[in-house]
Amino acid sequence: MKDETLALHAGYTPGNTEPRVLPIVQSITYTYDTAEEMAKIFDDPTRSLCYSRFGNPTVMAVEQKIAELEGGAGAMCTSSGQAATLLSVLNICGAGDKIISLADTYGGTTNLFSFTFKRLGIETVFIDKNASDEELDKLFDERVRLVFGETLANPAMTVLDIERFANLAHRHNVPLIVDNTFATPVFCKPIEFGADIVVHSTSKYMDGHAVQVGGVIVDSGKFNWANGKYPELSEPDESYHGISYTETYGKLAYIIRARMNLMRDFGVYPSAHSAFLLNLGLETLPVRMRQYHENGMKVAEYLVSNPEVESIKFPALESDSDHELYKKYLKGTCAVISFSMKGGKARAMRFLDALKLASNEVHVADIRTCILHPASTTHRQLTDEQLEAAGIGQGLVRLSVGLENIDDIMEDLKQAFEASK
Ligand SMILES: *Cc1c(COP(=O)(O)O)cnc(C)c1O
Repeated sequence: MKDETLALHAGYTPGNTEPRVLPIVQSITYTYDTAEEMAKIFDDPTRSLCYSRFGNPTVMAVEQKIAELEGGAGAMCTSSGQAATLLSVLNICGAGDKIISLADTYGGTTNLFSFTFKRLGIETVFIDKNASDEELDKLFDERVRLVFGETLANPAMTVLDIERFANLAHRHNVPLIVDNTFATPVFCKPIEFGADIVVHSTSKYMDGHAVQVGGVIVDSGKFNWANGKYPELSEPDESYHGISYTETYGKLAYIIRARMNLMRDFGVYPSAHSAFLLNLGLETLPVRMRQYHENGMKVAEYLVSNPEVESIKFPALESDSDHELYKKYLKGTCAVISFSMKGGKARAMRFLDALKLASNEVHVADIRTCILHPASTTHRQLTDEQLEAAGIGQGLVRLSVGLENIDDIMEDLKQAFEASK
């Protein structure tokens, strides 16, 4: 089925006289007729539900829907996008291991990789997307466990050459993990281009209404984890009576370990109510994304022709340096526009203050137009070199065009350009 249909129907099919809408199963636990039956769950928790720290029917229906939208074999929701990124890496990395990440990723990801992972003994090598194959190949040694990148980088709005980085990772027998938050599966399905694992912050377009933070990890089911590099997946897991995930669960090895092992231990699972709200957002995702694209294009065209604008990054524009990659990988773009205006940081701050309709907020992909100055907020922790690597100057603003009427959005931007001169 196509996206519009999956968004409405995947993951939950009511039986005779059952509720039409996905029910909220607000229960921590589940009962069993016999003690023996319950004991068996502990040998193999995938047999049934036992505790809502790592499995719940409402959440699992949403997991199934997202897996189908991404064309994956399975998925697991998390309580935030950060938790999804964290677990997607920890599932196959430990102290002494190394990861290779594109430099222009989301600031929260850069922080996690540069500081927290370092303390855990995981080293991150940040790479430039324009580095040559020779340079990149040289970075791989026995310790490297994965490559990480973002389809559409937040807020740099660069486009990841997914096939190229999937080939790079696969040449060295490691998976490519792609953060597909900004593109959403409506505009890009990274698995079709060779990505092995896809992560999302569902707090953005998927939720769409700015009502709850969440994340998800999707497993393509295609990576060969039994290649000798991933003993945590192929060798017996002592914490589960010696199960080998690859032998027992085949193509679902990665995502089942993430749930049975990491989610059990870290407990960053969303509540049933959060999943219910996320599901409402997903139902209209394809329709909303088309309108975001249309509104985003109109604002981007206005900004390109505005002499007050120094530079703009919006890959759907023909003049954009990533436009060829955009045409290859994306069917449309989200309505996030990164641009710098003449007058640097001071002008940018005045511009933000002058906006009346667009709100000044720490969010992006809200259904309402919003704006933020990354260098002084979300990316404040980064050094000047890291800012540059992430494509973020002091004058850059990140505008997230919403679904208000386009004429009202334009009028607000125009008056703020005037007022901030
Ligand atoms: C927001 C965001 C995250 C983090 O997600 P939260 O839900 O805020 O934890 C990760 N990646 C990208 C691309 C994001 O935009």
